[in-house]
Amino acid sequence: MAKDNAAPSETFDFIVIGAGPGGYTGAIRASQLGLKTAIIEKDKTLGGTCLNVGCIPSKALLDSSEHFAMANHDFKTHGIDVSGVKLNLPAMMARKSKIVSDLTGGVAFLMKKNKIAHYNGKGKLLSPTQVEVTMADGSKQVLEAKNIMLATGSVVNELPSVPYDGKRIISSTEALSLPEVPKHLLVVGGGVIGLELGSVWLRLGAKVTVLEYADRLVSNMDSQMTKRMESVLAKQGMEFMFQVKVTGSKSSKYAVQLTYEDMKDNNAAKQIEGDVVLVATGRRPYSDGLGLEELGIEKDKRGFVMVNEHLQTKHPNVFAIGDLVPGWMLAHKAEEEGVAVAEFIGTGVGHVNYETVPGVVYTWPELASVGATEEELKAKGVAYKAGSFNFAANARAKAIGTTDGMVKVLADASTDRLLGVHILGPRASDMIAEAVVAMEFGGSSEDLARSFHAHPTLSEVMREAALAVDKRARQS
Ligand code: FAD
Ligand code: NAD
Repeated sequence: MAKDNAAPSETFDFIVIGAGPGGYTGAIRASQLGLKTAIIEKDKTLGGTCLNVGCIPSKALLDSSEHFAMANHDFKTHGIDVSGVKLNLPAMMARKSKIVSDLTGGVAFLMKKNKIAHYNGKGKLLSPTQVEVTMADGSKQVLEAKNIMLATGSVVNELPSVPYDGKRIISSTEALSLPEVPKHLLVVGGGVIGLELGSVWLRLGAKVTVLEYADRLVSNMDSQMTKRMESVLAKQGMEFMFQVKVTGSKSSKYAVQLTYEDMKDNNAAKQIEGDVVLVATGRRPYSDGLGLEELGIEKDKRGFVMVNEHLQTKHPNVFAIGDLVPGWMLAHKAEEEGVAVAEFIGTGVGHVNYETVPGVVYTWPELASVGATEEELKAKGVAYKAGSFNFAANARAKAIGTTDGMVKVLADASTDRLLGVHILGPRASDMIAEAVVAMEFGGSSEDLARSFHAHPTLSEVMREAALAVDKRARQS
């Protein structure tokens, strides 16, 4: 039987279907709380989208390609002369794959360590307390559980007019393993995936053109920041076409021609050619073959499983989390939901604070954000104060040589409570944590402004932006 370290009994307190960040983290927490737990994963490796074909391989390539770009363009300014910098793409890919296999292996270790029974097969709900597992060899087994958590995540959303062929028209998965650098990469969708993977191939030498339907990049983030990000990426050589709707594709042996409607030109039909097209127009929740319909578990019209504030479906002991349910499609959001479900079952209390979910685009500089954007505050009629500060005036950013970007702090006009923090800058992904903690504690811009920030560090930009809320930035 294809099960690893499964307990002899097939009855559990908690069964998790899907071993992505939401599923495996929730399983660990449940086990810590003394619940007899099983996890069912259809793929050979654990870790889900994030570890196998998402967060981790993309960040490995972003870091490697950033080193390559620095060696080519920035080392000289530090007084380091290097010649003959050459890309060894197979070695870069091998490094990425090793990081992925180390981490997916690490999750398997954590399952064993926490005595979580691992079934390698596809799970399907038979009833609110029964799951059928179909193993790779076709054999089936029925497991019983008091509680079940659906954590089956998401998959790429194919654009019907530009179907994937896996070679010239690709999804993020293939874009993480291209055998050579494209000459001209066309990226459909100026969202997170388009910009991150577009950056990887731009740095490795491709011409990159992003075709975006909206009038700006990553349209759910603060527009002042995304506009500024656009100009920094344009300086790096990324090209953008906005208000274009990609409507069709024609592939030949060496090229792909995309057809698009140019909304700035009366929807005129136009063409553009590249040798590889990355379609990154969003992901859809994945619940194929999960047995939801048979149990009357409701989905919205985009396929997201409907849950209440405790992440319960219409069956109170069947929970759903992560990319499968409405909300941000982010690994850390899935993790917190998995933990909240385990704690709700194990202790009666489990909660996720959706006000403080950070979002990060791992370009260089990075764009990180928590809380409301200025557009959202204006739309809601919230009176707010804004303070901002540029990395160009920060000593450490100058020392590092990355001065593009800024921090913006938004605070309530009367109470000074933090409402949103937005960072475009080096290592914004790490810097945003300070703002998340401050907001989690209901902190104010004054709290950020009065807290020590070591000198010289990038974090001083956060403090100066917080001081600027009250018009008392000291370094500008
Ligand atoms: P998933 O990670 O999708 O895991 C679901 C698991 O369930 C999969 O392993 C699947 O095989 C399994 N499964 C599905 N159906 C069944 C079944 N019936 N039986 C058994 N197993 C089943 N997010 C971030 O926060 N930061 C990032 O930097 C980031 N980068 C990304 C880069 C890319 C290229 C992509 C594509 C995504 C990225 N994301 C990132 C998003 C992140 O990967 C997802 O939000 C996260 O993985 C969702 O976690 P999950 O547990 O809900 O689902
Ligand atoms: P996205 O929703 O972020 O961006 C898709 C973009 O495609 C949108 O800007 C949309 O306007 C555009 N678009 C849609 N149809 C189009 C068309 N026909 N022509 C031109 N443009 C079109 O989706 P994504 O970038 O595919 O990412 C999917 C999910 O994965 C996101 O929800 C994201 O949260 C997650 N993700 C997160 C990270 C991260 O946290 N760093 C990284 C990668 C992916």
